[in-house]
Amino acid sequence: MAKATHIAVISSPGFSHIAPIVEFSKRLVTNHQNFHVTCIIPTLGSLPDSSKSYLETIPPNINLVFLPPINKQDLPQGVYPGILIQLTVTLSLPSIHQALKSINSKAPLVAIIADKFALEALDFAKEFNSSSYVYFPCSAFVLSFYLHWPKLDEEVSCKYKDLQEPIKLQGCVPINGIDLHTVTKDRSGQAYKMYLQRAKGMYSVDGILFNSFFALESSAIKALEQKGDGKIGFFPVGPITQIGSSNNDVVGDEHECLKWLKNQPQNSVLYVSFGSGGTLSQRQMNELAFGLELSGQRFIWVVRAPSDSVSAAYLEDANEDPLKFLPKGFLERTKEKGFILPSWAPQVEILKQNSVGGFLSHCGWNSTLESIQEGVPIVAWPLFAEQAMNAVMLCDGLKVALRLKFEDDEIVEKEKIAKMIKCVMEGEEGIAMRDRMKSLRESAAMALKAKDGSSIQTMSHLATQLENIGRI
Ligand code: UDP
Repeated sequence: MAKATHIAVISSPGFSHIAPIVEFSKRLVTNHQNFHVTCIIPTLGSLPDSSKSYLETIPPNINLVFLPPINKQDLPQGVYPGILIQLTVTLSLPSIHQALKSINSKAPLVAIIADKFALEALDFAKEFNSSSYVYFPCSAFVLSFYLHWPKLDEEVSCKYKDLQEPIKLQGCVPINGIDLHTVTKDRSGQAYKMYLQRAKGMYSVDGILFNSFFALESSAIKALEQKGDGKIGFFPVGPITQIGSSNNDVVGDEHECLKWLKNQPQNSVLYVSFGSGGTLSQRQMNELAFGLELSGQRFIWVVRAPSDSVSAAYLEDANEDPLKFLPKGFLERTKEKGFILPSWAPQVEILKQNSVGGFLSHCGWNSTLESIQEGVPIVAWPLFAEQAMNAVMLCDGLKVALRLKFEDDEIVEKEKIAKMIKCVMEGEEGIAMRDRMKSLRESAAMALKAKDGSSIQTMSHLATQLENIGRI
């Protein structure tokens, strides 16, 4: 029997960071049984319910180590969630070190793989004589931007939104400065500095794993490989989502919304969700409600209590009934056509239903991949982080989404929402987008095909590389 290869994987807080890196770990141990993976999980306050119930489903062949939680009161209030995630990891470094030491004392650690927010923890790799890898839970496009960012910062002195020309990253769709990651909007801000520092740090790791697949971003991936020049390994291991996860069959009673969806005609329902923490203002929430009504389409909407900050619910459990913020009479008027879910939905199960014909999405990368894997076209409504970059790729590059245009006061009105929804759900453009999505779905499935799928092969190369390091 081959010698076991021991790996430590370090996540950062937040459902959309924990789930992908744990899913990656699951895929590694499922396809390469001599691998032993320990996932180290830093937390901010108590784990949100979504992460808790997800982690309860993790198979026993993955060891989970929960670090002592960082106290929310010890962090600044009302700041961008990326800052909180980063500070949580920074404050957890002593316990991360302790955990690594304890794992390494039982069996030498061949490699440490850290989420992009946990990059600092890779400084410990030398001490344990381990290799260091980043798990970057986004696309090759966004990764290309991160790697280009230090140069852009040096060369450009104006605000990125004032750049006259779109930025042309090699192998990627051109992007206007205004659509870059939200932290780039304020170049003197704390978040900008933190993110840029991390982007610079990515050049000193042994390899970068990212959540994409060759057929989706072939030219961007080739350009990255050229850029790495053999010094940094690039590993497109995606799509890594809960779709196709070995745990999908372990579901209890069927959720009411799935029963409802099973009774709706094919491709007739729009699924509306803004990820694990996106929020709308009260005014915007009203416009969306009226827009849905006006569109005349069936819908299933994950409603969250409104806030003037678009990322207000990220890292937080909902503690208010969101339904009370809906316009008066909305629930009654739409009860035949609409299904409302407060705060959280079984998203991957919803997207699998034949009746779901469109996804009004904030374009978080996990949601994007899940939509691609189920062949569902998108109404793009990016809110924060790199979501606008994902929207640009979906709309201008892959042509599988239409993006809502915001007015100067950042409110999109009901008529526009209704028009766009109708266009994606039943217009000719929508039909063409659905066809393109269906072929992306095929490519995504091919990438994960046993033995010869491109991402399965990438995973095997990575495993061989790690095993070889283990033998030295
Ligand atoms: N998700 C879910 N139910 C919800 C909202 C989100 O299961 O009601 C999951 C979704 O399937 C995805 C993740 O949470 O896997 C959200 O990640 P994404 O990158 O799309 O957005 P983020 O939460 O980072 O904004």
